[in-house]
Amino acid sequence: MALDSAKYQALYRAILPQRFPSIAMADVLSATENSAATDGAVPTAADTDEIRRLLHDCKVLVVGAGGLGCELLKDLALSGFQDLHVIDMDTIDVSNLNRQFLFRLSDVGKPKAVVAAAFIENRVQGAKVTPHYAKIQDMADDFYAQFQLVVCGLDSVEARRWMNAYLVGQADLANPDTIKPMIDGGTEGFNGQARVIIPKITSCYECSLDLFKKQMVYPICTIANTPRLPEHCIEWASVIAWPDHFPDQPVDTDNPKHLRWLYTSASKRAEQFGIRGVTYTLTQGVVKNIIPAIASTNAIIAAACANEALKLVTSCHLHLDNYMMYTGTEGVYTYTYAYSRRADCPVCGQESKHLTVAPQLTLAELLDLLAESPDIQLASPSLRSAHTNRSLYLQAPPQLEQRTRPNLSKPLTELMESGEEIIVTDRRLPIYLSLVVSFSP
Ligand SMILES: [Zn+2]
Repeated sequence: MALDSAKYQALYRAILPQRFPSIAMADVLSATENSAATDGAVPTAADTDEIRRLLHDCKVLVVGAGGLGCELLKDLALSGFQDLHVIDMDTIDVSNLNRQFLFRLSDVGKPKAVVAAAFIENRVQGAKVTPHYAKIQDMADDFYAQFQLVVCGLDSVEARRWMNAYLVGQADLANPDTIKPMIDGGTEGFNGQARVIIPKITSCYECSLDLFKKQMVYPICTIANTPRLPEHCIEWASVIAWPDHFPDQPVDTDNPKHLRWLYTSASKRAEQFGIRGVTYTLTQGVVKNIIPAIASTNAIIAAACANEALKLVTSCHLHLDNYMMYTGTEGVYTYTYAYSRRADCPVCGQESKHLTVAPQLTLAELLDLLAESPDIQLASPSLRSAHTNRSLYLQAPPQLEQRTRPNLSKPLTELMESGEEIIVTDRRLPIYLSLVVSFSP
């Protein structure tokens, strides 16, 4: 169900001038609406000073210092942003050097955020870049509260979902300071997208989760008990078999010995279940979550994102509303459209999601369904009844997991009424999904 985008545009226009107090916002809006007027709009000297002040005062968080992050930091600093922060949990690998141009061979092994920040500060006069060598999930609320804008250049869907859910969760329409626009860039080979997410006003990342057809999330129950795909066997090797064998040593996906062990274990499991297709390359692809990266696509998408940041902060032009896709595989093609909010979005929607299932479906099978549904994709969900608050299944802590585990093999009819509301949470994401499960006749 789509919400009326025009309604949210109006809301957004009411809020934005308070969010970024800037030069004659109303003039900019009316000028842009009347395209004839924009042709003659030349910024005056006073406007230029104001823009400079806004860029100086605006604190921007860049999430990710990899292929997109390097480009974003360079573009934002050269566009005049003077107070940048960058957060990334990775260290530099030799394979990054072909496109992550802020790094040199001598930087291999050092934190990306630290090296990138130092490079930009050294190169762009007046730019202050503060690095954070950390996970986004580990930062406190007051860390995020200091920023006016968040620009993401991530290669992980899970990190994006977390960032999006967090920013939407913090947004309170009554308090414009809590509304932090998120500009999100993403690339895959020759294709990419840039989007502007104004929390609780435009559609959010989760609203369009089903755009990503390729499955990224594999259900834990399937991985543990009923694998069907080579990917399930590889996930089993890395998520279940590895911690069993090496409880004190996390998998290092850059270590060929570790990968070889995972590949061998996954192959054995595939053989047991009669599954074909486990290869070393696929193992690498699944555990490292490799997405093909092309330097020029990163440059195009990062440039689009940086321009949107400039427009949002200075109001010099209307910003992207709200999704730009770029296709470079078959010629060059871009298309922009306003992606609608989903009323049953677990992050920004207010309505429950409805699911009709066969009554004999077990709770374990429902969990699989939650992981596999393209618009839900929750891999480690915990479920409780909204009416009685009774836990149906909890992933953690271990005692409660053990106590609720027997429910997994029970048919849903033993656990709930048809049409009952279930609250689904996931320990990996700040998401709260209201699910109404009905039994098919
Ligand atoms: Zn949403």
